[in-house]
Amino acid sequence: MACKIDPNLHKEKKPDWIRVKLPRDPVFWSTKGLVADLKLHTVCEEAQCPNRWECWSQGTATFMIAGDRCTRACGFCAVKTAKPFALEADEPQRVADATKRLGLKHIVITAVARDDVADGGAGHFAQTIEAVRAAVPGIVIEILVPDFNAKDEAIEVIMRARPHIFNHNLETVERLTPLVRSRAQYHRSLHVLRRAKEIAAELGFKTATKSGLMLGLGETEPELFQAMDDLLEHGVTVLTLGQYLRPSPSHLPVIDYIHPDTFENYKQIARNKGFRHVASAPLVRSSYHAADFKPELDVI
Ligand code: SF4
Repeated sequence: MACKIDPNLHKEKKPDWIRVKLPRDPVFWSTKGLVADLKLHTVCEEAQCPNRWECWSQGTATFMIAGDRCTRACGFCAVKTAKPFALEADEPQRVADATKRLGLKHIVITAVARDDVADGGAGHFAQTIEAVRAAVPGIVIEILVPDFNAKDEAIEVIMRARPHIFNHNLETVERLTPLVRSRAQYHRSLHVLRRAKEIAAELGFKTATKSGLMLGLGETEPELFQAMDDLLEHGVTVLTLGQYLRPSPSHLPVIDYIHPDTFENYKQIARNKGFRHVASAPLVRSSYHAADFKPELDVI
């Protein structure tokens, strides 16, 4: 489905509620130093997350494995698109070391899309989960994954490593998906979320599934509510909603800045529809305050 947004619609001026705090806490600099020391990538930096001052000052970060070059070119994303380097065999252990040194009790691990690798990087994900669990027993492990082209084998490889929370973002409503994520498909993402939960059940454990959407890309409320219903129908119980912010003029324009009160209203609507946990505010991102959600810890 072709779908175009006029770039002239972009709202240049950010409203007052989009404010980023500058780093003052020494913990921010120690987190930054540790990430650099272990030669790791974070989505906090690569995606220009507006919360990195806050999160890093609290000693938490979201690690982005499998390199900093993505094989896709989504219209919203600041991560660079380029031919990726080979996977680094010692990266899982470096993530585990960082997790231990930061003293994390809940880790979020994400990755670039690696369509160049046969399993889409699923094996690398699984190795990272296992290394982190070995280094920090009892830690809650959340993964934020690409769609692996909906290959069941790849999802199964990941689920065999038993993540507590399987997160895959829908990012936007069905109508806007071809524009926002040109190499992805709305229903394929829903399928991935459903299969993750089914495979976990087949393997004898429970995993919480989670997804998120960016708002302000031109979606309508009925489209958003339909996306909520679709996620619930596919077993998703944790939802994040945040404001889309344009990383550069070459990215999709912001069509609307959604007021914080509206985000709060959406939170109530999502909760009433049946989501167990909802984070909804302008600066919410997939991993923002991720540890606030406590899954039933029956999978370790
Ligand atoms: S919200 Fe997530 S991506 Fe953003 S700074 Fe915090 S941990 Fe990093």
